[in-house]
Amino acid sequence: MLYRNGRIFDGRNAAPVGFAVLVEEGIIRAIGPEPDFDGYGGPKFDLGGDTLMPGLIDCHVHLTMSGDGKAAAAREFDFGKITLEALENAQKTLQGGITSVRDCGGVEFVEFAVRDACNSGRFLGPFIRVSGKVICMTGGTKWKIGRVADGPQEVITAVREQIYRGCDCIKLMATGAVLHPGSDIEDPQYTVEELIAGVTEAERFRRPSAAHAIGTKGIINAARAGVTSIEHGTVLNDEAVGIMLEKGTYLVPTLAALEQILLNPEAVPPASMERARRVAAKARDSVAMYYKAGGKIAMGADTGTICNPHGKNARELAHMVGCGMRPVDALCSGTSIAAELLRLDTRGSLAPGFIADMLIVRGDPLTDITCASETENHRLVIKGGAPVAGMELERQPPFRRFG
Ligand SMILES: [Zn+2]
Repeated sequence: MLYRNGRIFDGRNAAPVGFAVLVEEGIIRAIGPEPDFDGYGGPKFDLGGDTLMPGLIDCHVHLTMSGDGKAAAAREFDFGKITLEALENAQKTLQGGITSVRDCGGVEFVEFAVRDACNSGRFLGPFIRVSGKVICMTGGTKWKIGRVADGPQEVITAVREQIYRGCDCIKLMATGAVLHPGSDIEDPQYTVEELIAGVTEAERFRRPSAAHAIGTKGIINAARAGVTSIEHGTVLNDEAVGIMLEKGTYLVPTLAALEQILLNPEAVPPASMERARRVAAKARDSVAMYYKAGGKIAMGADTGTICNPHGKNARELAHMVGCGMRPVDALCSGTSIAAELLRLDTRGSLAPGFIADMLIVRGDPLTDITCASETENHRLVIKGGAPVAGMELERQPPFRRFG
């Protein structure tokens, strides 16, 4: 299929006017000026002036949480039900223009089965990376579903357990959380020594590490330990930014989680609401600070948290622009930079040899981010060269076989 007569954002930049993209057998074969394809006799797709871009990549979701405020524990650990919901959530995510995701903390590894089902093509879904159980201290954030581990040696054991189960990434809980009862978001939870143990063991097995970190001290601890990405990074200061820049740490701001809490006070416990209000302005400032400093920012919407439904992940793009990011940089965060963080070598860009995970949106998202952030503007979601969702496609049965 030759995609022509439109704008092209390749994951880093807008391609020159008049460029076209050729896809064969689910792979991008060529991108270049349309006259280069004069001898091509196959099917053509008329973009009609709209924009072809890579499918979006979300670096922070929770497939085993459905955004209804009920954690797995509240659902009495009904694993059959949680597994089916996780698959459904993955499919909603793909319908929302997100062609790859990273799950940042699951329940009893049920999301691993969903990953395998989607990545093998048994079920339609996005390409999925998983972290397994979050690793946390005694009483730490998400201890009910996480792997509790205290002291460097036990953290190393916990990392090995996740790797043995087949995780793609390691998630460490460095501070309290807005939604975690009884925790103070400013308090660091793990020590630098514990974090270094976790990060080093993860890297030894070529896994990136992600640290949940809200308060400044915890962010500094995790960055010093060499974690690959800081998740949330809510309360940054100059010292934290300095260390993150020096270490090349990615920031995954997850603004949508906080914005959705603020929009839905009736659904949120009062103590969480108080914590959310306390840090909301600072969260936006922190993104602006790291952006101005030239830090690497990758998109993550934290879908699955309260009133933050799967499939609406792309709204995170608009939140990032709301913090002062240029639309082109927000789009890079949601495509090429996210792919770099997730170590996806053949996704997140429109380039020869890359998998044709793509999105066609109305208008020009480089001048108006809502063209990409609002799913009503998604004309077509394309996974591995095949149209799978979007306003132009009839609604697909949810369990259609793929590939
Ligand atoms: Zn999260």
